[in-house]
Amino acid sequence: MPAPIRDSVTSINKDGSRNFIHPADVRGKFTTVRKFVAALLIAIYIALPWIKIGGNPAVFLDIAARRFHLFGITLSLTDIWYLFFAVTGLGILIFFTTALLGRIWCGWTCPQTVFLDFVFRRIERWLEGDRAARRRLDKTAWADPNKIIRRGAKIIIFFIISALIAHIFLSYFVSLPALYTMMSESPLQHWGSFVFVSVATLIFFFNFYWFREQLCIIICPYGRFQSVLIDDDSLVVGYDAKRGEPRGKPSQTDVGDCVDCHRCVQVCPTGIDIRQGLQIECVSCSACIDACNEIMDKLKRPRGLIRYDSMHALDGNKTRFFRPRIVIYGILMLIGAVVASIALSHYSPASLMVTRMPGDPYTILSGTVQNRFKVRLINKSNQNLTFSAELEGAPAGASIEGFSSLTLAPQEEQVIQMLVGQGKSTYTGSFPFKIVLKSSDGKVVVKDSASFSGPSPEYLQSLP
Ligand code: SF4
Ligand code: SF4
Repeated sequence: MPAPIRDSVTSINKDGSRNFIHPADVRGKFTTVRKFVAALLIAIYIALPWIKIGGNPAVFLDIAARRFHLFGITLSLTDIWYLFFAVTGLGILIFFTTALLGRIWCGWTCPQTVFLDFVFRRIERWLEGDRAARRRLDKTAWADPNKIIRRGAKIIIFFIISALIAHIFLSYFVSLPALYTMMSESPLQHWGSFVFVSVATLIFFFNFYWFREQLCIIICPYGRFQSVLIDDDSLVVGYDAKRGEPRGKPSQTDVGDCVDCHRCVQVCPTGIDIRQGLQIECVSCSACIDACNEIMDKLKRPRGLIRYDSMHALDGNKTRFFRPRIVIYGILMLIGAVVASIALSHYSPASLMVTRMPGDPYTILSGTVQNRFKVRLINKSNQNLTFSAELEGAPAGASIEGFSSLTLAPQEEQVIQMLVGQGKSTYTGSFPFKIVLKSSDGKVVVKDSASFSGPSPEYLQSLP
Protein backbone atom coordinates (compact mmCIF):
# COMPACT_ATOMS: atom_id res chain seq x y z
CA MET A 1 0.00 0.00 0.00
CA PRO A 2 1.46 3.41 -0.94
CA ALA A 3 2.49 5.62 1.99
CA PRO A 4 -0.04 8.42 2.48
CA ILE A 5 1.00 11.82 1.18
CA ARG A 6 -0.80 15.15 1.54
CA ASP A 7 -0.99 15.84 -2.19
CA SER A 8 -3.26 12.97 -3.18
CA VAL A 9 -6.01 10.79 -1.76
CA THR A 10 -4.75 7.44 -0.46
CA SER A 11 -7.80 5.54 -1.69
CA ILE A 12 -7.01 6.40 -5.34
CA ASN A 13 -3.89 5.07 -7.08
CA LYS A 14 -1.78 7.16 -9.44
CA ASP A 15 -3.46 5.53 -12.45
CA GLY A 16 -6.91 6.41 -11.05
CA SER A 17 -7.75 2.88 -9.91
CA ARG A 18 -9.12 2.22 -6.43
CA ASN A 19 -6.77 1.48 -3.59
CA PHE A 20 -9.03 -0.37 -1.17
CA ILE A 21 -8.33 0.70 2.40
CA HIS A 22 -8.56 -2.01 5.06
CA PRO A 23 -8.12 -0.32 8.44
CA ALA A 24 -6.56 -2.47 11.15
CA ASP A 25 -8.51 -3.38 14.31
CA VAL A 26 -8.08 -1.03 17.22
CA ARG A 27 -8.97 -1.08 20.91
CA GLY A 28 -9.13 1.74 23.39
CA LYS A 29 -11.38 3.98 25.41
CA PHE A 30 -12.53 6.13 22.49
CA THR A 31 -13.35 3.08 20.39
CA THR A 32 -15.33 1.59 23.30
CA VAL A 33 -17.34 4.78 23.83
CA ARG A 34 -17.92 5.10 20.08
CA LYS A 35 -19.27 1.54 20.04
CA PHE A 36 -21.88 2.46 22.67
CA VAL A 37 -22.77 5.68 20.87
CA ALA A 38 -23.16 3.78 17.59
CA ALA A 39 -25.32 1.07 19.22
CA LEU A 40 -27.52 3.77 20.77
CA LEU A 41 -27.92 5.65 17.49
CA ILE A 42 -28.76 2.48 15.55
CA ALA A 43 -31.30 1.53 18.25
CA ILE A 44 -32.89 4.99 17.96
CA TYR A 45 -33.02 4.69 14.15
CA ILE A 46 -34.79 1.33 14.40
CA ALA A 47 -37.08 2.32 17.30
CA LEU A 48 -38.38 5.74 16.19
CA PRO A 49 -41.05 4.39 13.79
CA TRP A 50 -42.25 1.98 16.57
CA ILE A 51 -42.48 4.51 19.41
CA LYS A 52 -45.84 6.24 19.47
CA ILE A 53 -46.30 9.72 20.89
CA GLY A 54 -49.84 11.08 20.92
CA GLY A 55 -51.06 8.18 18.78
CA ASN A 56 -48.54 8.70 15.97
CA PRO A 57 -45.00 7.38 15.40
CA ALA A 58 -42.40 9.62 17.02
CA VAL A 59 -41.13 10.57 13.56
CA PHE A 60 -43.50 10.01 10.63
CA LEU A 61 -43.14 12.18 7.53
CA ASP A 62 -46.47 11.30 5.93
CA ILE A 63 -45.90 12.82 2.49
CA ALA A 64 -49.04 11.22 0.96
CA ALA A 65 -51.30 12.91 3.55
CA ARG A 66 -49.07 15.99 3.74
CA ARG A 67 -48.67 15.62 7.51
CA PHE A 68 -45.39 15.61 9.40
CA HIS A 69 -45.53 14.01 12.84
CA LEU A 70 -42.52 14.98 14.96
CA PHE A 71 -42.38 13.88 18.61
CA GLY A 72 -46.06 14.49 19.34
CA ILE A 73 -46.48 17.57 17.14
CA THR A 74 -48.30 17.25 13.83
CA LEU A 75 -47.44 19.80 11.15
CA SER A 76 -49.49 20.27 8.00
CA LEU A 77 -48.43 22.08 4.84
CA THR A 78 -49.75 25.35 6.30
CA ASP A 79 -47.22 24.91 9.15
CA ILE A 80 -44.29 24.49 6.79
CA TRP A 81 -42.84 27.78 8.00
CA TYR A 82 -41.78 25.95 11.19
CA LEU A 83 -39.19 24.27 8.95
CA PHE A 84 -37.43 27.63 8.73
CA PHE A 85 -36.50 27.27 12.40
CA ALA A 86 -35.51 23.63 11.95
CA VAL A 87 -33.27 24.27 8.93
CA THR A 88 -31.62 27.49 10.15
CA GLY A 89 -31.29 26.07 13.69
CA LEU A 90 -29.61 22.95 12.35
CA GLY A 91 -27.28 25.04 10.17
CA ILE A 92 -26.18 27.28 13.06
CA LEU A 93 -25.86 24.27 15.39
CA ILE A 94 -23.54 22.60 12.86
CA PHE A 95 -21.47 25.79 12.55
CA PHE A 96 -21.28 26.12 16.34
CA THR A 97 -20.37 22.50 17.15
CA THR A 98 -17.85 22.33 14.30
CA ALA A 99 -16.14 25.56 15.40
CA LEU A 100 -16.01 24.15 18.93
CA LEU A 101 -15.52 20.40 18.49
CA GLY A 102 -14.31 20.01 14.90
CA ARG A 103 -15.65 17.03 12.98
CA ILE A 104 -17.23 15.35 15.98
CA TRP A 105 -20.35 14.71 13.87
CA CYS A 106 -18.32 12.81 11.22
CA GLY A 107 -16.41 10.54 13.55
CA TRP A 108 -19.09 9.84 16.14
CA THR A 109 -22.62 10.28 14.86
CA CYS A 110 -22.78 10.42 11.06
CA PRO A 111 -24.84 7.43 9.77
CA GLN A 112 -22.11 6.74 7.21
CA THR A 113 -19.47 6.26 9.92
CA VAL A 114 -21.81 4.52 12.37
CA PHE A 115 -23.03 1.89 9.88
CA LEU A 116 -19.68 1.48 8.09
CA ASP A 117 -17.45 1.15 11.16
CA PHE A 118 -19.81 -0.60 13.55
CA VAL A 119 -21.94 -2.80 11.30
CA PHE A 120 -20.42 -3.48 7.88
CA ARG A 121 -16.71 -3.49 8.80
CA ARG A 122 -17.43 -5.68 11.85
CA ILE A 123 -19.17 -8.26 9.65
CA GLU A 124 -16.30 -8.01 7.18
CA ARG A 125 -13.76 -8.70 9.94
CA TRP A 126 -15.83 -11.64 11.18
CA LEU A 127 -16.04 -13.19 7.69
CA GLU A 128 -12.67 -12.32 6.18
CA GLY A 129 -10.35 -11.88 9.13
CA ASP A 130 -8.03 -9.06 10.11
CA ARG A 131 -6.49 -6.40 7.88
CA ALA A 132 -3.71 -8.66 6.59
CA ALA A 133 -6.13 -11.52 5.83
CA ARG A 134 -8.51 -9.15 4.02
CA ARG A 135 -5.72 -7.74 1.89
CA ARG A 136 -4.59 -11.28 1.03
CA LEU A 137 -8.15 -12.16 0.06
CA ASP A 138 -8.29 -9.08 -2.21
CA LYS A 139 -5.31 -10.43 -4.14
CA THR A 140 -6.66 -14.01 -4.33
CA ALA A 141 -8.25 -15.04 -7.65
CA TRP A 142 -12.05 -15.38 -7.71
CA ALA A 143 -11.65 -19.07 -8.68
CA ASP A 144 -10.51 -19.79 -5.13
CA PRO A 145 -13.36 -21.54 -3.22
CA ASN A 146 -12.34 -19.82 0.04
CA LYS A 147 -12.78 -16.41 -1.60
CA ILE A 148 -16.07 -17.40 -3.24
CA ILE A 149 -17.51 -18.55 0.11
CA ARG A 150 -16.26 -15.61 2.20
CA ARG A 151 -16.91 -12.83 -0.33
CA GLY A 152 -20.18 -14.45 -1.41
CA ALA A 153 -21.40 -14.54 2.21
CA LYS A 154 -20.28 -10.92 2.63
CA ILE A 155 -22.19 -9.80 -0.46
CA ILE A 156 -25.38 -11.58 0.67
CA ILE A 157 -25.22 -10.27 4.25
CA PHE A 158 -24.34 -6.72 3.14
CA PHE A 159 -27.24 -6.78 0.70
CA ILE A 160 -29.71 -7.99 3.36
CA ILE A 161 -28.59 -5.32 5.83
CA SER A 162 -28.74 -2.64 3.11
CA ALA A 163 -32.32 -3.75 2.36
CA LEU A 164 -33.19 -3.62 6.08
CA ILE A 165 -31.81 -0.08 6.39
CA ALA A 166 -33.75 0.94 3.26
CA HIS A 167 -37.03 -0.60 4.57
CA ILE A 168 -36.66 1.14 7.95
CA PHE A 169 -35.93 4.37 6.06
CA LEU A 170 -39.12 3.92 4.03
CA SER A 171 -41.16 3.32 7.20
CA TYR A 172 -40.36 6.92 8.24
CA PHE A 173 -42.44 8.04 5.23
CA VAL A 174 -45.23 5.43 5.06
CA SER A 175 -45.50 4.09 8.67
CA LEU A 176 -44.82 0.52 9.80
CA PRO A 177 -48.34 -0.90 9.21
CA ALA A 178 -48.31 0.46 5.65
CA LEU A 179 -44.83 -1.00 5.14
CA TYR A 180 -46.03 -4.45 6.26
CA THR A 181 -48.97 -4.19 3.88
CA MET A 182 -46.67 -3.24 1.01
CA MET A 183 -44.30 -6.10 1.80
CA SER A 184 -47.12 -8.64 1.90
CA GLU A 185 -48.65 -7.54 -1.40
CA SER A 186 -47.41 -7.54 -4.97
CA PRO A 187 -44.76 -4.88 -5.77
CA LEU A 188 -46.95 -3.85 -8.72
CA GLN A 189 -49.57 -2.56 -6.27
CA HIS A 190 -46.99 -0.28 -4.66
CA TRP A 191 -44.53 0.21 -7.47
CA GLY A 192 -43.46 3.71 -6.32
CA SER A 193 -42.39 2.47 -2.89
CA PHE A 194 -40.91 -0.66 -4.44
CA VAL A 195 -38.70 1.39 -6.78
CA PHE A 196 -37.73 3.71 -3.90
CA VAL A 197 -36.68 0.89 -1.58
CA SER A 198 -34.91 -1.02 -4.38
CA VAL A 199 -32.87 2.03 -5.43
CA ALA A 200 -32.10 2.89 -1.78
CA THR A 201 -30.96 -0.72 -1.14
CA LEU A 202 -28.65 -0.65 -4.17
CA ILE A 203 -27.21 2.74 -3.17
CA PHE A 204 -26.59 1.58 0.44
CA PHE A 205 -25.04 -1.67 -0.80
CA PHE A 206 -22.78 0.11 -3.29
CA ASN A 207 -21.73 2.61 -0.64
CA PHE A 208 -21.01 0.16 2.19
CA TYR A 209 -19.56 -2.62 0.03
CA TRP A 210 -17.31 -0.57 -2.23
CA PHE A 211 -17.50 3.23 -2.11
CA ARG A 212 -17.02 3.63 1.66
CA GLU A 213 -14.67 6.37 2.90
CA GLN A 214 -14.75 8.04 -0.52
CA LEU A 215 -18.19 9.40 0.37
CA CYS A 216 -16.51 11.43 3.14
CA ILE A 217 -13.43 12.32 1.11
CA ILE A 218 -14.99 13.18 -2.24
CA ILE A 219 -18.76 13.70 -2.01
CA CYS A 220 -19.92 14.92 1.40
CA PRO A 221 -20.43 18.73 1.27
CA TYR A 222 -20.02 19.02 5.05
CA GLY A 223 -16.54 17.48 4.75
CA ARG A 224 -15.66 20.03 2.03
CA PHE A 225 -16.61 22.94 4.31
CA GLN A 226 -14.30 21.94 7.14
CA SER A 227 -11.46 24.28 6.30
CA VAL A 228 -13.72 27.32 6.72
CA LEU A 229 -15.77 26.05 9.67
CA ILE A 230 -12.88 25.27 12.01
CA ASP A 231 -10.04 27.46 13.22
CA ASP A 232 -6.83 26.87 15.16
CA ASP A 233 -8.76 26.73 18.44
CA SER A 234 -11.27 24.05 17.36
CA LEU A 235 -10.92 20.58 18.83
CA VAL A 236 -9.27 18.29 16.26
CA VAL A 237 -7.40 15.03 16.23
CA GLY A 238 -3.76 16.07 16.03
CA TYR A 239 -0.23 14.77 16.36
CA ASP A 240 2.04 16.47 18.88
CA ALA A 241 5.03 16.99 16.59
CA LYS A 242 6.97 18.86 19.29
CA ARG A 243 6.89 15.75 21.41
CA GLY A 244 7.03 13.11 18.68
CA GLU A 245 9.78 14.42 16.41
CA PRO A 246 12.41 13.45 15.46
CA ARG A 247 11.15 9.90 15.14
CA GLY A 248 13.38 7.10 16.27
CA LYS A 249 13.64 3.59 17.62
CA PRO A 250 12.26 2.72 21.09
CA SER A 251 15.81 2.12 22.31
CA GLN A 252 17.07 5.57 21.24
CA THR A 253 17.12 8.30 23.87
CA ASP A 254 17.93 11.46 21.87
CA VAL A 255 14.77 11.30 19.74
CA GLY A 256 11.07 12.12 20.11
CA ASP A 257 8.36 9.78 21.36
CA CYS A 258 7.13 8.61 17.92
CA VAL A 259 8.72 5.27 17.09
CA ASP A 260 7.43 5.38 13.50
CA CYS A 261 5.51 2.11 13.96
CA HIS A 262 2.75 3.26 11.53
CA ARG A 263 -0.02 1.90 13.77
CA CYS A 264 -1.82 5.26 13.52
CA VAL A 265 -1.74 4.98 9.71
CA GLN A 266 -2.84 1.34 9.66
CA VAL A 267 -5.98 1.96 11.71
CA CYS A 268 -7.05 5.10 9.83
CA PRO A 269 -10.28 4.46 7.89
CA THR A 270 -9.45 7.19 5.37
CA GLY A 271 -5.86 6.04 4.92
CA ILE A 272 -4.08 9.23 5.99
CA ASP A 273 -1.04 9.81 8.16
CA ILE A 274 -2.08 12.29 10.84
CA ARG A 275 1.56 13.02 11.54
CA GLN A 276 1.60 15.04 8.31
CA GLY A 277 -0.74 17.54 9.95
CA LEU A 278 -4.48 18.13 9.94
CA GLN A 279 -6.02 17.00 6.66
CA ILE A 280 -9.47 17.37 5.18
CA GLU A 281 -9.76 13.56 4.96
CA CYS A 282 -9.60 13.20 8.75
CA VAL A 283 -13.10 12.40 10.04
CA SER A 284 -12.03 12.74 13.67
CA CYS A 285 -12.85 9.12 14.45
CA SER A 286 -10.13 8.88 17.15
CA ALA A 287 -8.93 5.44 15.97
CA CYS A 288 -5.35 6.75 15.65
CA ILE A 289 -5.53 8.13 19.21
CA ASP A 290 -6.38 4.70 20.62
CA ALA A 291 -3.78 3.03 18.41
CA CYS A 292 -0.99 5.39 19.48
CA ASN A 293 -2.01 5.26 23.15
CA GLU A 294 -1.68 1.46 22.98
CA ILE A 295 1.88 1.85 21.66
CA MET A 296 2.74 4.48 24.28
CA ASP A 297 1.39 2.16 27.03
CA LYS A 298 3.65 -0.63 25.79
CA LEU A 299 6.63 1.73 25.74
CA LYS A 300 5.66 3.10 29.18
CA ARG A 301 5.50 6.62 27.79
CA PRO A 302 2.71 9.10 28.50
CA ARG A 303 -0.41 8.81 26.39
CA GLY A 304 -1.59 11.61 24.12
CA LEU A 305 1.09 11.80 21.42
CA ILE A 306 -1.95 11.84 19.15
CA ARG A 307 -4.92 13.40 20.93
CA TYR A 308 -7.98 15.56 20.77
CA ASP A 309 -6.67 19.11 21.09
CA SER A 310 -6.60 22.41 19.26
CA MET A 311 -3.92 23.25 16.72
CA HIS A 312 -2.90 26.11 19.00
CA ALA A 313 -2.41 23.74 21.94
CA LEU A 314 -0.48 21.26 19.78
CA ASP A 315 1.83 24.17 18.88
CA GLY A 316 2.38 24.81 22.58
CA ASN A 317 -0.02 27.76 22.95
CA LYS A 318 -3.19 28.18 24.97
CA THR A 319 -6.54 27.28 23.41
CA ARG A 320 -8.95 30.22 23.27
CA PHE A 321 -12.51 29.11 23.99
CA PHE A 322 -14.22 32.49 23.44
CA ARG A 323 -13.59 33.52 19.87
CA PRO A 324 -15.72 35.85 17.72
CA ARG A 325 -17.29 32.97 15.75
CA ILE A 326 -18.21 31.03 18.91
CA VAL A 327 -19.85 34.12 20.43
CA ILE A 328 -21.72 35.03 17.20
CA TYR A 329 -22.95 31.44 16.60
CA GLY A 330 -23.90 31.17 20.29
CA ILE A 331 -25.94 34.40 20.18
CA LEU A 332 -27.63 33.35 16.92
CA MET A 333 -28.54 29.96 18.45
CA LEU A 334 -29.96 31.66 21.53
CA ILE A 335 -32.07 34.06 19.45
CA GLY A 336 -33.24 31.16 17.26
CA ALA A 337 -34.16 29.04 20.30
CA VAL A 338 -36.19 31.89 21.84
CA VAL A 339 -38.05 32.67 18.59
CA ALA A 340 -38.70 28.96 17.93
CA SER A 341 -40.06 28.51 21.48
CA ILE A 342 -42.41 31.47 21.01
CA ALA A 343 -43.54 30.10 17.64
CA LEU A 344 -44.11 26.61 19.05
CA SER A 345 -46.08 28.02 21.99
CA HIS A 346 -48.58 29.29 19.37
CA TYR A 347 -48.88 25.87 17.77
CA SER A 348 -52.51 24.93 17.17
CA PRO A 349 -53.87 21.37 16.75
CA ALA A 350 -55.98 22.65 13.85
CA SER A 351 -55.17 24.82 10.88
CA LEU A 352 -57.39 26.96 8.71
CA MET A 353 -56.89 28.51 5.30
CA VAL A 354 -59.48 30.81 3.75
CA THR A 355 -59.38 31.77 0.07
CA ARG A 356 -61.94 33.46 -2.17
CA MET A 357 -63.83 31.15 -4.54
CA PRO A 358 -63.06 31.75 -8.22
CA GLY A 359 -65.65 33.61 -10.29
CA ASP A 360 -67.64 36.74 -9.47
CA PRO A 361 -66.34 38.48 -6.32
CA TYR A 362 -69.91 38.93 -5.05
CA THR A 363 -73.53 38.21 -5.85
CA ILE A 364 -76.67 40.11 -4.81
CA LEU A 365 -79.65 38.01 -3.83
CA SER A 366 -82.86 39.56 -2.50
CA GLY A 367 -81.00 42.69 -1.41
CA THR A 368 -78.19 40.76 0.35
CA VAL A 369 -74.57 40.98 -0.86
CA GLN A 370 -72.94 37.55 -0.71
CA ASN A 371 -69.25 36.47 -0.94
CA ARG A 372 -68.22 32.84 -1.35
CA PHE A 373 -65.05 31.55 0.35
CA LYS A 374 -63.19 28.25 0.21
CA VAL A 375 -62.40 27.13 3.76
CA ARG A 376 -59.75 24.43 4.20
CA LEU A 377 -59.77 23.06 7.75
CA ILE A 378 -57.36 20.42 9.10
CA ASN A 379 -57.73 18.59 12.39
CA LYS A 380 -54.14 17.68 13.37
CA SER A 381 -55.12 16.22 16.73
CA ASN A 382 -56.03 12.62 17.52
CA GLN A 383 -59.61 13.31 18.60
CA ASN A 384 -62.83 14.39 16.91
CA LEU A 385 -63.23 18.15 16.83
CA THR A 386 -66.54 19.95 16.16
CA PHE A 387 -66.18 23.54 15.03
CA SER A 388 -68.61 26.43 14.98
CA ALA A 389 -67.88 29.55 12.94
CA GLU A 390 -68.13 33.28 13.56
CA LEU A 391 -66.86 36.52 12.05
CA GLU A 392 -64.38 38.82 13.70
CA GLY A 393 -63.90 42.46 12.76
CA ALA A 394 -66.94 42.54 10.45
CA PRO A 395 -69.53 45.35 10.69
CA ALA A 396 -72.86 44.68 12.38
CA GLY A 397 -75.26 42.83 10.15
CA ALA A 398 -72.66 40.67 8.41
CA SER A 399 -73.15 36.95 9.00
CA ILE A 400 -72.22 33.46 7.89
CA GLU A 401 -75.11 31.92 5.99
CA GLY A 402 -76.13 28.25 5.89
CA PHE A 403 -73.44 26.95 8.28
CA SER A 404 -74.10 25.40 11.66
CA SER A 405 -71.11 23.22 12.64
CA LEU A 406 -68.42 21.01 11.16
CA THR A 407 -67.01 17.83 12.72
CA LEU A 408 -63.61 16.51 11.69
CA ALA A 409 -62.21 13.10 12.59
CA PRO A 410 -58.56 12.84 13.84
CA GLN A 411 -56.10 13.96 11.14
CA GLU A 412 -59.00 14.73 8.79
CA GLU A 413 -58.93 17.57 6.29
CA GLN A 414 -62.09 19.11 4.82
CA VAL A 415 -62.63 21.79 2.23
CA ILE A 416 -66.02 23.49 2.40
CA GLN A 417 -67.68 26.47 0.81
CA MET A 418 -68.73 29.26 3.17
CA LEU A 419 -71.13 32.04 2.34
CA VAL A 420 -70.76 35.42 4.06
CA GLY A 421 -73.57 37.90 3.49
CA GLN A 422 -74.67 41.38 4.47
CA GLY A 423 -78.14 42.86 4.04
CA LYS A 424 -78.97 46.10 2.25
CA SER A 425 -80.05 47.87 5.44
CA THR A 426 -76.61 47.62 7.16
CA TYR A 427 -74.31 47.50 4.12
CA THR A 428 -71.71 50.29 4.00
CA GLY A 429 -69.25 48.90 1.44
CA SER A 430 -66.31 46.43 1.31
CA PHE A 431 -64.49 45.53 4.55
CA PRO A 432 -61.71 43.26 5.87
CA PHE A 433 -62.60 40.63 8.49
CA LYS A 434 -61.56 37.26 9.90
CA ILE A 435 -63.31 33.90 9.79
CA VAL A 436 -62.96 32.26 13.21
CA LEU A 437 -63.54 28.55 13.81
CA LYS A 438 -63.88 27.46 17.43
CA SER A 439 -64.02 23.90 18.78
CA SER A 440 -67.03 22.97 20.91
CA ASP A 441 -64.92 22.88 24.10
CA GLY A 442 -63.44 26.28 23.21
CA LYS A 443 -59.86 24.99 23.46
CA VAL A 444 -59.02 25.16 19.76
CA VAL A 445 -59.48 28.47 17.97
CA VAL A 446 -58.22 29.08 14.44
CA LYS A 447 -58.72 32.17 12.33
CA ASP A 448 -57.75 33.47 8.92
CA SER A 449 -58.14 36.86 7.26
CA ALA A 450 -60.41 37.58 4.32
CA SER A 451 -62.02 40.61 2.71
CA PHE A 452 -65.64 41.20 1.82
CA SER A 453 -66.31 42.72 -1.61
CA GLY A 454 -69.45 44.37 -2.89
CA PRO A 455 -70.84 47.24 -4.95
CA SER A 456 -70.96 50.85 -3.77
CA PRO A 457 -73.63 51.40 -1.06
CA GLU A 458 -75.38 53.90 -3.36
CA TYR A 459 -75.73 51.34 -6.12
CA LEU A 460 -77.09 48.73 -3.70
CA GLN A 461 -79.63 51.21 -2.32
CA SER A 462 -80.76 52.07 -5.84
CA LEU A 463 -81.72 48.46 -6.53
CA PRO A 464 -85.41 47.61 -6.14
S1 SF4 B 1 1.13 5.16 16.42
FE1 SF4 B 1 2.17 6.76 17.59
S2 SF4 B 1 4.23 6.00 17.76
FE2 SF4 B 1 3.32 4.82 16.12
S3 SF4 B 1 3.80 5.97 14.26
FE3 SF4 B 1 1.84 6.73 14.96
S4 SF4 B 1 2.35 8.50 16.20
FE4 SF4 B 1 4.22 7.34 15.97
S1 SF4 C 1 -6.37 10.56 11.17
FE1 SF4 C 1 -7.08 9.53 13.03
S2 SF4 C 1 -8.97 10.57 13.58
FE2 SF4 C 1 -8.49 11.15 11.49
S3 SF4 C 1 -9.66 9.70 10.25
FE3 SF4 C 1 -7.61 8.84 10.50
S4 SF4 C 1 -7.79 7.53 12.31
FE4 SF4 C 1 -9.57 8.83 12.31
